[in-house]
Amino acid sequence: MRLPHLLGNSRLKEALASLPPSGVGSAVLLDGPAGIGKRTAAADLAAGLLCPQPNGPCGVCPSCKRASAGSHPDLIWLKESEPSKGVKLEQVRQLRAQSFLRPSEAPFKVFVIPQADRLNLPSQNALLKVLEEPASSVFVLLCENREAMLQTVRSRCKTFRLAPLEQQELLAELSRRCDSSADALRAAAAQSGGLLGRALDILSGQEKAGHTAARAFCQALRGDELGIFLACQELSKLHREEYADFCDESCRLLTRSVMLTGSRRSVDIFEYLEKQRAMLNQTPSVTALAGALAAFCGGL
Ligand SMILES: [Zn+2]
Repeated sequence: MRLPHLLGNSRLKEALASLPPSGVGSAVLLDGPAGIGKRTAAADLAAGLLCPQPNGPCGVCPSCKRASAGSHPDLIWLKESEPSKGVKLEQVRQLRAQSFLRPSEAPFKVFVIPQADRLNLPSQNALLKVLEEPASSVFVLLCENREAMLQTVRSRCKTFRLAPLEQQELLAELSRRCDSSADALRAAAAQSGGLLGRALDILSGQEKAGHTAARAFCQALRGDELGIFLACQELSKLHREEYADFCDESCRLLTRSVMLTGSRRSVDIFEYLEKQRAMLNQTPSVTALAGALAAFCGGL
């Protein structure tokens, strides 16, 4: 199995290189922050599973061509109704019905489920039922935050973690794709923390509200209490899905800060945000969460 379109990630590629399609099992979880390349990896993985050539995807056979054109009858890619929202319960139920149908030409069907960590509890339980059934399909789940998923779902998946790109590799790719100035490219590469999709969002001015808020919040943590309070106040304007983006991104940034400085305070805030993120599926209002975060940071 190969991932020809995914940049970097040499360890993951090495691990997959020795794996035949049957070795992938019936459920795969691709784990990593937004913009790291999960969809690219999933497209390659799905094409590789369906390609009849050894060590696929070969990229040139009819199966690979249809997979890349989005017209392979045995490759079903669930779509979110809106960005940042997971797929709906109804779609998971439909997926269950579809997974019982015989594949058209490949030995099995491949289903890709984006933002599996955004599924609410009923949807995750419906998905669990699908995964528990005898495997006649392969499911590829994408997630940013494994902790937001049911342990029972996670434990049924073979997990592959994606890694950020080296700055040099990211810069080279950005200058190949974008016309921006060298300074703008360098700044986007640094702010993205090695995530190609995120750097492209920053350069095109399309960064998600939750990600911008996370950068402002983590910046405020380096200043005084008032600044932190004001940053938290801004958070109450976010929608629920944006608040999930905020938690995921802040945790990612705080992890980097902990690795660099070993700060105990960063660890505490990281753990608190993880709890908030886990509660988000059931919880009250974003305003209440933002207020509680401000109080928690003020008490540290
Ligand atoms: Zn092929």
